[in-house]
Order: sequence, then structure tokens, then C-alpha cells
Amino acid sequence: MEPRRILVLAPHPDDEIVACGIAALRARAVGARVFVLYLTTGVPARDALWPWQRRGHAARLSCRRAEARVAATLFGLEPIGSLDYPSRHLRNHLDAAAAEIGRAIMEHGAEALWVPAFEGAHQDHDAANALAAFQWPFNFNRKASGPSASGSVNTTWWYSTGSSKPCSRVHHAARAAAWHLGQCRLRHEL
Ligand SMILES: [Zn+2]
Repeated sequence: MEPRRILVLAPHPDDEIVACGIAALRARAVGARVFVLYLTTGVPARDALWPWQRRGHAARLSCRRAEARVAATLFGLEPIGSLDYPSRHLRNHLDAAAAEIGRAIMEHGAEALWVPAFEGAHQDHDAANALAAFQWPFNFNRKASGPSASGSVNTTWWYSTGSSKPCSRVHHAARAAAWHLGQCRLRHEL
């Protein structure tokens, strides 16, 4: 059965659209609600920016937030909060983030989690994947069923936002095909 309440863990504002916006629209078309928890601001810490960029840090933050709000409205997503860690810092806050994710699952009755694949690309994406796996101590990196840490979630899918590493178009196509095949297989298993 398709999940009716989906929680997207977006490491950065925009991942929820770039990676699974169409999947979210399809889920909504069959009556699901799609919640989004942003795990970072999507902007590096101020002191990590080039000196000439630092004055614009606050503006970049508010721009990312505003863009996420507009995108969520367009796609009918329901943002439920942001952990507000700077981009590239999620790995420094794993315990606190895991607790927040567990709370979000419970409060919003999530039946499915959508998170990035663990693919060795952006560190925040991989950290998000690890955090989701933490919610399922008995299952790893694929559809989970059975006991969960929260007791309320019984399925999870994994989305990919692609690699930030340079690679060929053929490689991208192969990765995309493999990912879609994986999704089809998961659909049949559900
Ligand atoms: Zn991202």
C-alpha cells in the first residue's frame, strides 16, 4: 500500500524539489501528504564564506528560505521545520538531528521517509542517509519494515540528488537507470 504520510528529509532547501519533486506530486495526486524537514540552511557558515561574501550571508539565508517556501507552495509540500545547521555541518550534530527527526516522525505520523542515497557525494546528503538508517536499527539502506525506533514508520525510500563529483554523461545515465530500476523493484515489494 502506498504511504499516505511521507516525510522528506532535505539536507538542503531545494533537495526536496530537485530530487523527488515529481515523485511528491505523484504521491499527492493519490492523496498522500508530503512533509519536509530541512536539515541545514543550505548556506555554509558565515566564516566559511570568502571574505567578500560574508556581508551577504544573512541575505543568502533568507533567499534560500524564501525560495523553499515558494517551491513548497507550488508543489503542495508541507514544510514542518528546519534544523538550521549551516551547510556541511550536519555531521557535527547527528545526535540532536536524530532526535529531531524521531520527533518529526511521531508528531506528523510519517509512514515513509524519503532521504538521499548514500553515495559519497555531498557530506550532508550522506549524513541524512545515516540519520534515516538510525531510525531503523534493524534495516539498512533499503525499504524497511518491521520494528522501528519510533514504532510508527514502516517504509522508507531513498532518493538521489546525483553526485557533485564530475563524471561523464554516460555514467550519470547509468546511475539514473539503476536508481529508477531500484525504485521499480521497491514498488513491487511494497
Ligand atoms: Zn543538497
